[in-house]
Amino acid sequence: MGVRDLVLVLGDQLDPQSLALDDFDREKDLVWMAELPEESEHVWSHKARIALFFSAMRHFAKRLEERGIPMRYLRIGAHAYSGFADALSAEIAFKRPDRIVVVQPGDYRVLAQLRDATSSAGLPLEVRRNRQFLIDLDEFQNWAEGRKELRLEHFYRFMRRRMGLLMDGKDPEGGAWNFDKENRKTFGRKGPGVVPLPAAFAPDALTRAVIADVEQQFPDHPGSLAHFDWPVTPQQADEALEDFVMHRLPAFGPYQDALWTGETYLYHSRLSAVMNLGFLDPQAVLDAAVAAYRRGAAPLASVEGFVRQIVGWREFVRGLYWTHMPDYLEANSLDAHQALPDFFWTGNTDMRCLAETIGQTLEHGYAHHIQRLMITGLFALLLGVEPRQVHAWYLAVYVDAVEWVELPNVLGMSQFADGGLMASKPYVASGKYIQRMSNYCEHCPHDPNEATGASACPFTTLYWDFLMRHEARFKEHPRAGLQWRNLNRLDAGKQAAIRRRAEALKDQLATAPS
Ligand SMILES: Cc1cc2nc3c(=O)[nH]c(=O)nc-3n(C[C@H](O)[C@H](O)[C@H](O)COP(=O)(O)OP(=O)(O)OC[C@H]3O[C@@H](n4cnc5c(N)ncnc54)[C@H](O)[C@@H]3O)c2cc1C
Ligand code: SF4
Repeated sequence: MGVRDLVLVLGDQLDPQSLALDDFDREKDLVWMAELPEESEHVWSHKARIALFFSAMRHFAKRLEERGIPMRYLRIGAHAYSGFADALSAEIAFKRPDRIVVVQPGDYRVLAQLRDATSSAGLPLEVRRNRQFLIDLDEFQNWAEGRKELRLEHFYRFMRRRMGLLMDGKDPEGGAWNFDKENRKTFGRKGPGVVPLPAAFAPDALTRAVIADVEQQFPDHPGSLAHFDWPVTPQQADEALEDFVMHRLPAFGPYQDALWTGETYLYHSRLSAVMNLGFLDPQAVLDAAVAAYRRGAAPLASVEGFVRQIVGWREFVRGLYWTHMPDYLEANSLDAHQALPDFFWTGNTDMRCLAETIGQTLEHGYAHHIQRLMITGLFALLLGVEPRQVHAWYLAVYVDAVEWVELPNVLGMSQFADGGLMASKPYVASGKYIQRMSNYCEHCPHDPNEATGASACPFTTLYWDFLMRHEARFKEHPRAGLQWRNLNRLDAGKQAAIRRRAEALKDQLATAPS
């Protein structure tokens, strides 16, 4: 007998309160979940990313089954389908549902595949609102309507007012919308000292089975599973949140931009993955952070800095993604065409900052924001790597990577490929910025102060080269112009030497095996 609703639960929709399940009828409906090779292979996914999704999905499915919810679950290796197109079409032919129900997917490509599969079967597809976000997409569109440019700061203030979040009447609590001055500290020469490690979750039997499947099915994929300790259930996600609020939130603000050798997480929350999977409601995350401030356990500067990420950036990038897809994917406003260096997949480079960031990425599937933006992202931007290749790398290597959040951050914030939709100017800096914010340069054969010569820092060389290449576009720019006008400090001879060295670097990186 056929079913009424075939309810799809995708790997990033593991929300126990999902709208997809709201009117679920055990007698008539069926939940459908699938581990599909294409979802791990359309970009060359890190093993930990694949394992986290599959483990979270299997735990979620187990919970639904325990609640007596009928389900069809396709395990990797136990079926021959490749992607949603063939797997869903086969299921539709077999079960003959009246309609397909799904919550708004996080990836435009997946939504297009679902639409194709259902329309070729002549079935209605009901796409429901995603409760994992604080603002619905149509409300975001209303906010965006008629604005000349979409800026995070405007959106952030709109959200704070709308939610009455950290507000004192019409004014922001503490008298300011941001506490950037207090929030840009470095660790100084002594370093961070002992930083409390995030809560770690040893793999249970179910996760160990997933790890074995991933090793078997995706043996040549990048990354390691040796240190897999991610939360894989909503309960573990709650523990991770509590641990962050208690141990790291108080210092989150001051050190959110700092970097340090061997310190993978510093004071960051490590909550993006569980929020993106659907285990952790962003409202609960905000409530926990604000409650810590109210009881005097965390300063306002830290809590505001953290709240800004959740209620500002996280919601803002999702709105941008759905406003600008599918064209967003093709954006390349700086006309960048260099190949992504091979060492992005191995960490095999003598540039200490990159070796550290990529090394921990391959080990854990994690790097914090400033590593993503100002180490790997900055290097790709300065080198002029084709944005599509940078996007494919970021989508592959981080356990929290889902396209709605990854793409605007990479193409917009990091690579300025969208020509300024997301960021008002390119985030560029020389090696001296990295020297100021970290201790990476102390262990590096390159010198961040040098743009030419044998020990020149590639970031510094490529920084000046970038300024020269894009001078015409940015020298009169209201926010970036000052940075470009520094080019006047270099005489023609120095400029030519920098250009030569930058070209040599590009040639070398385009051909070097890692
Ligand atoms: C080039 C680049 C690629 C990125 N790719 C991803 C990605 O694939 N998935 C992802 O979730 N985030 C991505 N980010 C945003 C951010 O770097 C990560 O969310 C963060 O590093 C995750 O670690 P955390 O949970 O410890 O974050 P914290 O530093 O503790 O921040 C708290 C939370 O705020 C949210 N947040 C912070 N910054 C951003 C941002 N810029 N955009 C959206 N949400 C934000 C996240 O949910 C995060 O968990 C990217 C940023 C850059 C610059
Ligand atoms: S000197 Fe340059 S390459 Fe080396 S760690 Fe510093 S910024 Fe990175």
